[in-house]
Amino acid sequence: MSTLTLRGLRKSYGDTPVIHGVELDVADGEFVVLVGPSGCGKSTLLRMVAGLETVGEGRIEIDGRLVNDLEPRDRDVAMVFQNYALYPHMTVFDNMAYGLKIRGQSKDRIRARVDEAAAMLGLGDLLNRKPQALSGGQRQRVAMGRAIVREPKLFLFDEPLSNLDAKLRVQMRLEIKRLHQRLGVTSLYVTHDQVEAMTLADRLVVMHGGRAEQIGRPLDLYLRP
Ligand code: ADP
Ligand code: ADP
Repeated sequence: MSTLTLRGLRKSYGDTPVIHGVELDVADGEFVVLVGPSGCGKSTLLRMVAGLETVGEGRIEIDGRLVNDLEPRDRDVAMVFQNYALYPHMTVFDNMAYGLKIRGQSKDRIRARVDEAAAMLGLGDLLNRKPQALSGGQRQRVAMGRAIVREPKLFLFDEPLSNLDAKLRVQMRLEIKRLHQRLGVTSLYVTHDQVEAMTLADRLVVMHGGRAEQIGRPLDLYLRP
């Protein structure tokens, strides 16, 4: 059970405002997609929720708890990055296990969590490989596995499919959808790709110039005159 609430969220880089007062309520289990052109502030907004950028003004609440000043690892969120952000010197298993290890989980528990996620993502045979011996799609699965094993309150996705070729993008999009249906974890997903946004979203936030211009269900937004 987890919700995300953004209230009056603002952010500037130096004197330049880039987020202009965003309001958003993400319900428990909902998959919300931030969509809009490059430079409209999607990534900045997501990174603020992750704790990777400071908040200018406003409130970020997860399950009603103000998290503005919490470190990323204390927010109970997991982020999947466009560049996968895997540790190159570690095996697939160790990459997936790392977040649990630093949180002091037992070896048995880590093994069980990683095995379960690896099976879900078709990574069972690749656990001893290093990232450079994987395809782009496999790397992105490892990045998702690393997020899943943590059982976070929120999944954050920052253009996770942008580095994949067109065919793989469609396939991974369906996998993400299937995983969300299976796990039901509240998700905030950033993309500039409208088809990807339409396919994945329970609700869309259409961003423009640092503002949430429209918020609604995909068909409601796209059928508007
Ligand atoms: P999007 O994810 O929609 O492409 P971003 O959130 O990356 O947009 O960027 C929003 C705006 O903030 C852009 O004008 C970008 O140039 C600017 N910006 C992003 N990061 C920084 C930074 N670290 N320093 C200064 N300006 C930044
Ligand atoms: P993890 O998420 O792997 O368990 P932490 O919680 O300490 O590790 O990570 C803090 C934040 O930094 C998380 O949002 C995590 O996803 C993010 N992060 C981890 N590796 C990288 C990286 N190489 N580049 C950018 N951010 C990263």
